[in-house]
Amino acid sequence: MNRRPIIEPFRIKVVEPIRVTRAAERRAILERARYNLFGVHGDDVIIDLLTDSGTGAMSAEQWAAMMRGDESYAGARSFYRFEAAVAGLTGMPHIYPTHQGRAAERILCDVVPLARRVVLSNGLFDTTRANVEAAGAIGVDLPLAGTVSRSPGAEPLPFGGDMDVERLDAALARHAGQVAIVVMTVTNNTLGGQAVSLANLRAVAERVRAVPVRERPLLVLDACRFAENAYRISADEAAERGRPLREIARAMFDLVDAFTMSAKKDAIVNTGGILGVRDHALAEKIRVDLIRTEGFTTYGGLAGRDLEAIAQGLEEVLDPSYLEYRFAASRYLASALAAAGWPVIEPAAAHAVYVDAGLALPHLREEDLPGQSLACALYLAGGVRTCEIGALMFGAAGRGRRQLVRLALPRRVYTQSHVDYVATVGAEIALVRDRLPAMRILEQPPSLRHFTAAMAPASPFPDLG
Ligand SMILES: *Cc1c(COP(=O)(O)O)cnc(C)c1O
Repeated sequence: MNRRPIIEPFRIKVVEPIRVTRAAERRAILERARYNLFGVHGDDVIIDLLTDSGTGAMSAEQWAAMMRGDESYAGARSFYRFEAAVAGLTGMPHIYPTHQGRAAERILCDVVPLARRVVLSNGLFDTTRANVEAAGAIGVDLPLAGTVSRSPGAEPLPFGGDMDVERLDAALARHAGQVAIVVMTVTNNTLGGQAVSLANLRAVAERVRAVPVRERPLLVLDACRFAENAYRISADEAAERGRPLREIARAMFDLVDAFTMSAKKDAIVNTGGILGVRDHALAEKIRVDLIRTEGFTTYGGLAGRDLEAIAQGLEEVLDPSYLEYRFAASRYLASALAAAGWPVIEPAAAHAVYVDAGLALPHLREEDLPGQSLACALYLAGGVRTCEIGALMFGAAGRGRRQLVRLALPRRVYTQSHVDYVATVGAEIALVRDRLPAMRILEQPPSLRHFTAAMAPASPFPDLG
């Protein structure tokens, strides 16, 4: 049957030129950046798949809303529009803007006593883990068995982002009275953006509610990609199939006591964050902290116009045709890369395609940074910027993890021909992949080394591009 293509459900009104670099130029640029793609200027990138965070294109309605932004210091109209949009979506009584998701996390970690306590999660995002640990708690991930370092050829799990509920039971018993927070990250970013089922969220909530009240942990949703997660639930969770996306999203928020969210993801804005809680006493503490560190409660480190854009973006992200297109784009890229022989994580997440460089480059060991070698090759061959998620990012703490390269898809930015270009570059590299060199670290900072480490290939890259 002749299936019609799923189109980008938008027309383009404003364009931004791409500077097309040549291979020789890129070799010099990468050398100058010391083989760290975070050191490459945006203008020297042809297709930028470094992250989907804050890199999306706003709609005409969002830009129009920006013009209507009320910049009153206190009680701005834009805040009330933002609050109504977020409350309508989440049902949370207390909602606060922050400048980014990590500020919401930091404030939550300031107001919940965490010293010498434990935080359990299906997968803490790196900033969440850093905030939890800075507050003196230990963060423990409880992913499903086999999802972190899965054997090649294993059957893909439809909801690989779920928390392992048996491991949760064991952890709650082992750390009885010590667990301060349980965080459910949707989608599970550190595990390749795998989705979390509503059934799993319900099971986790049930376990948390069964803890005696005085010891009960706060159940928190890291809601960065709530819409992409809701779409997967509506498409693939039998009991929820076809339910309206807004209803599914609400069911997710209804299960938790609080949420943090980076608006740079599923609110489709360039910066912003949100913190929402149910408890009045906790809200009081948050207000004090927010005013001290971010700004007054009705702007929280953002401009009125930013709040308008978030309110509008939260409407648009739940449009089924937008989400259908978004998943179609990532699946299209994943299947093109797979056809070229690259092992990709299945099912493809919406926000990114992950290539398993450890499997693809068996001549390189973990300490040879196969992911970074492939990421550099993508830049050299086609000016495509991606992100290593493996030994470079996690260091010794990540022993045995998969060596991944993430091709993140900014929201509403690239068209199908851009994706075709990336897939073609990937196919060109596949032909010489056994010759991609080991990478060596020359200099590195004490933590978060992937952002600034200086590297060099142990032997020259083959001719690419
Ligand atoms: C991006 C992200 C955050 C942090 O948000 P920022 O806005 O970048 O501070 C937290 N959790 C997850 C799952 C994320 O993807």
